[in-house]
Amino acid sequence: MKKTFRYPAEGRWFKGNTHIHTLASDGGMSVRDIATLYAQAEYDFLFCTDHWKASNVQLFEETFPLLWIDGIELDGKDSRGEAYHIVCLGREQGDMVDRMDLTEAVDRMRDAGAILILAHPEWTGNSLDPELADRLDGVEIYNHVCRWLNGKWSGRLHWNAQLKIGRPTLGFAVDDAHLRPEHPGWNGGWVQVLAPVCERTTLLEAIRRGHFYSSCGPVIRQIREHQGRIELETSPVRFVRLVGTDALGQRQGSFDGIERTEWAFEIPAQWDYAYLELEDAMGRCAWTQTLYV
Ligand SMILES: [Zn+2]
Ligand SMILES: [Zn+2]
Repeated sequence: MKKTFRYPAEGRWFKGNTHIHTLASDGGMSVRDIATLYAQAEYDFLFCTDHWKASNVQLFEETFPLLWIDGIELDGKDSRGEAYHIVCLGREQGDMVDRMDLTEAVDRMRDAGAILILAHPEWTGNSLDPELADRLDGVEIYNHVCRWLNGKWSGRLHWNAQLKIGRPTLGFAVDDAHLRPEHPGWNGGWVQVLAPVCERTTLLEAIRRGHFYSSCGPVIRQIREHQGRIELETSPVRFVRLVGTDALGQRQGSFDGIERTEWAFEIPAQWDYAYLELEDAMGRCAWTQTLYV
């Protein structure tokens, strides 16, 4: 297995969230107030992903302290009756505002080039290889509102199940922010995208290629491959784990409370895939994408 290291050597990290609800569906705040709020937490971009309401940020009549990018969240059932929520990134969905058959909607968006993400699979109760999985680009591995709702925030089981059967699935940490009194959480899960500039087409392409990591806290300052080793500079974290299929794993760090900022791993040649999971002193994690493509 000879593959290419995923992350580019050049670029800047841009912080963003790929799952946000506004007043256009069941969110509690306007796009202006959400932008102001998130800009204070050093976000560079947000995707507007209301339920069955394709956004059109070109029609927003104000300027914002961060970049809004279009999206939509669909939900429905497949032919077997399994329920899904699917977040679509990009303006490729046109002006879709009416509910339609989920499979038809997903095919339409996929044909048009949107990035499709299986949302909160643990919360929805998705099977590990759902019927529509081969149409999807990614899965939410952390969903902040689902953590609040009933603790079913993880999509790691679903992510690893897809990786195990060879699908190049991306892992996203998201807020799924609603910003209503009963769903107050935000800035709990986000992505950091490595790109030359913070611009819509550039960010979408970088996300599609997996030039990002997902985080609930830890920061990756640099990730590179040097003479066959993966070298990592991070914010202070306690553990970094190299994660592979099933029980495969390597780990560095210790339970003695010491934090480190520099790490290096060599990926065993026989592993089918590997990504890194970082954990800080508060137990908050971050995840790279699979390191080789
Ligand atoms: Zn949802
Ligand atoms: Zn949502």
